[in-house]
Amino acid sequence: MVLGRIFPKITKFYLDGSPAEAEIAYPDKVRRVHIRLGGQEEQITAGPEGVIYITKGYPSALQIKWALKLQKKKFLPYFKFFEAASLAYPDVSARLSQQDPDFVHHSALEGSYPVRYRIVRSSRRKNTQIAFEGGLLVVHCPARLTDFEVELELQKSASKIIQFLEKMRRGAPAAEKEPAPARAASSIRLADGAEVQIIWQPGKRKSISISMPNSEQLLVKYPSRTSREKVMGWVLSQQAWIQKKRQNSLGKEDSNRVFFEKLSSEQEITLLDVKRKVRLSSVRKESGVFDDEIVLWVKDANLTRDQFLEVLVKTIKKWALTALQEEFELKLAQMGPFRYPYRKFFLTSAKTRWGSCSSRGHIRIHWNAVFVTKAEREYLYTHEAAHLTEMNHSSRFWQLVEVHCPDYKRARAMLHSRTLGFL
Ligand SMILES: [Zn+2]
Repeated sequence: MVLGRIFPKITKFYLDGSPAEAEIAYPDKVRRVHIRLGGQEEQITAGPEGVIYITKGYPSALQIKWALKLQKKKFLPYFKFFEAASLAYPDVSARLSQQDPDFVHHSALEGSYPVRYRIVRSSRRKNTQIAFEGGLLVVHCPARLTDFEVELELQKSASKIIQFLEKMRRGAPAAEKEPAPARAASSIRLADGAEVQIIWQPGKRKSISISMPNSEQLLVKYPSRTSREKVMGWVLSQQAWIQKKRQNSLGKEDSNRVFFEKLSSEQEITLLDVKRKVRLSSVRKESGVFDDEIVLWVKDANLTRDQFLEVLVKTIKKWALTALQEEFELKLAQMGPFRYPYRKFFLTSAKTRWGSCSSRGHIRIHWNAVFVTKAEREYLYTHEAAHLTEMNHSSRFWQLVEVHCPDYKRARAMLHSRTLGFL
C-alpha cells in the first residue's frame, strides 16, 4: 500500500529532458505510465500498457504531474480493464498496440463474450460506427482514435453487439425462431420484484422438478403429458424456495465476481498463506502451483472468464489434495494415538461443511481450505482428527480439540464466517 504520494513521481526522462515515465500511486498499487508528448489537440488519454498521451506542446514536468494528478481517477478503469484483459488474454496488449489495418483484434465483451474485429480508420470520419461485414465486426472510426479507444467504444456497445451476434448465430430473426407460447409464461415475477426466466424442459418423467442454474433462470423439468398451466401452478407455489435459491446464487455470483475482480487487479492468490502470482502460459504443457506462482497452461489465449476460472480451479484442486493431506498428516502425527485408524484422505467440494470424518477412517477436507489462514486449518485438522477418537460432538470431543488447538474458538468462528464454494 502506498499512501500519501499525492503527485505522480517522474521516473524517466527523454533525451531533451521532458518526462517519459511516471508512477501513479493508487490505493491498491502503483501503476507505471509511459508518457508520449506532442500533437495538435489538447488531450490527455490512457492507452495500452499504461501509455498516457499528452498532446499540445511540450509541458514541463510539473505541468505533467498536475495533469496526471487531475486525471488519475479517470485512468483507473482503463488500467483495470487492461490488467484484466492481459491476464485473460496474454497478448492483448501487444495486439492492441499494433496498427496493421488488416489486423484482427480479439476481445471479450463484458469481460467474457469473445469477439473478433477489425478497425478501419478514416480521417474524414467524425464518429464511430460498428458494422458486421464478412463474418467479422468492423469498427469504422476517426483516424485519431487509438486501438485502445476503439476497444472502449466496443465495450460501451457490448450488450447491443452481443444481442446482434447471438441473433446471427441462431441464423434467423429471433422472433421467428422462438414463437413465445401464449399459454405459458416464459418468466415469473417473484414477490420481491425480481424476474426469473423459465426454461421449460418436458421429458419422460413422472414428477415436476425445479432447479436454478443461476440467479436469473429457473429450469423446470416436467412430464411432457402435463400441461404447462398445471406445471406453472405448482411452480408458483414454490415461490419461497425460488426466492431463497435466487438469493443464494446471487451471493455466490457476487463473491465469484469479487474474487475475479480482485484477482484481475492483483493477479495474485494466497494459497496456504503464501502469495502467488497467476501467470498464463502457452509454452509449458502443464499447469501447476509453484512456490511463488500459479502457472495456467492454456492452448488458446482467447479464453472466457469462465474457462479461465475452470483452469484455475482445476489446477488449484489438483495441488490442494497433496498439499492439504501433508498438513493434515503432520497434525495427525502430533495428536495420536487414536481409537480408530485413519485410512484415507479426500478433498470435498461440499456446500455446507468444511470437513468430515467417517467411522471407516475416511477424512474429508474442503478444498477451499487452501484459502484460509493457518490457524483456521489447524482447527479444521484438529476437529476431524479428534473424531478418530470421539465420533461425536460431545463435551469430551471438544475437550480433546481444546487440548490440541487451545485457541480453537476464535479459529472456528473465523472459519464459519466464510462462504464455502466461492469458486
Ligand atoms: Zn465434527
